[in-house]
Amino acid sequence: MDTFSPTRPLDHVADFPAIPEGWAYLDTAATAQKPQAVINAIARGYSETYATVHRGVYQRSSEMTLAFEASRRRVARFIGAPSSDEVIFVRGATEGINLVAQSWGGANLQPGDRIMLSMLEHHSNIVPWQLIAERTGATIDVAPLTEDGRIDLDAMADILTARHRIVALAHVSNVLGSVLDAKRAAALAHSVGALLLLDGCQAVPRLPVDVADLGCDFYVFSGHKLYGPTGIGVLWGRAELLAAMPPWQGGGAMIDRVSFAGTTYAPPPARFEPGTPHVVGVLGLEAAVDYVESIGVEAISAHENALVREARDALSSINSLRVFGPEDSAGIISFALEGVHPHDIGTILDESRVAIRAGHHCAQPLMAHLGVDATARASFGVYNGRRDIEALVRGIERVTRIFG
Ligand code: PMP
Repeated sequence: MDTFSPTRPLDHVADFPAIPEGWAYLDTAATAQKPQAVINAIARGYSETYATVHRGVYQRSSEMTLAFEASRRRVARFIGAPSSDEVIFVRGATEGINLVAQSWGGANLQPGDRIMLSMLEHHSNIVPWQLIAERTGATIDVAPLTEDGRIDLDAMADILTARHRIVALAHVSNVLGSVLDAKRAAALAHSVGALLLLDGCQAVPRLPVDVADLGCDFYVFSGHKLYGPTGIGVLWGRAELLAAMPPWQGGGAMIDRVSFAGTTYAPPPARFEPGTPHVVGVLGLEAAVDYVESIGVEAISAHENALVREARDALSSINSLRVFGPEDSAGIISFALEGVHPHDIGTILDESRVAIRAGHHCAQPLMAHLGVDATARASFGVYNGRRDIEALVRGIERVTRIFG
């Protein structure tokens, strides 16, 4: 077993039934594999306790409602949210950002207002802002990156003005693994009267996150990257902001009273959760939070940092290989091999039972900035160990032999 943490060995591959012996799964930044505990929680939700929530008068539905709301409190504690009413269940980070852009942005942005993004954002933290900018007449600015691939907060400070209403940044880059100094970003945004939204998709699975301590205003993440189910994610927002935001989508469960003369809306979180929710997905997300906390986010972070160091060292010994991003990236490394398309790297590695991601990673502006169409990306989770890095390096050596 690989033992990176001095205090605790961390290699939980045995908890993951979909990872067969000898398969190096290095695509956790796209989606994490699921531990048996999460699979069991989902199976139990459908095979033992299933019913709808918030509506039924029968006991099963009341119990499911209690379990559903307990999951909300569990998630709130996990991210340091002051109140579980600030936790809104959405389909994923993409939906969370669209919700803020359309609801908060639609109500607050005007012609001449500005939105600050960065060069390394995922398309789901770019396109929703473009849509609302088009609708409201706001414009978008882009914070540049430092030489080593971090969001350049000094440069952002020079661009920020009193016309900026919101700053929306990745807490951890899905391509480079760069970790944002989120507290400083919050202070900078607030110094000009703007809000800060953090896209925590890649941060929540690999860093301790406390939204109150970070000082941000909105935080989003997806359950499936946190070892939980797909189709469920979280938008956290400060209570007073959510209370002032209009509904984004209408339907059942989000109302106070409906009549053809006019409708009034429920307070958050219900106001932003129209329709029947992903009941069992929420239970699965809670099981994922329990699983992650049973290992400890600090331990996961230390483990992934050690894997990144190890992988960077090993990859740097390969001629013609270029590694992107900062030395201390969190659990994610992008790289390119001179003269070989990343898709070919991915295909040849797959023959050696090494699964990486190759492509633009939904970050085309970042690809343009790096001067490439695509990169190869290896990303780590709690099931990875040194053997996976060895398999990756052996696989890349084979690629270099094939391409001469
Ligand atoms: N932001 C980042 C940084 C991501 O890595 C991803 C997923 N690749 C997303 C947003 C979108 O997440 P989802 O597709 O789960 O909504």
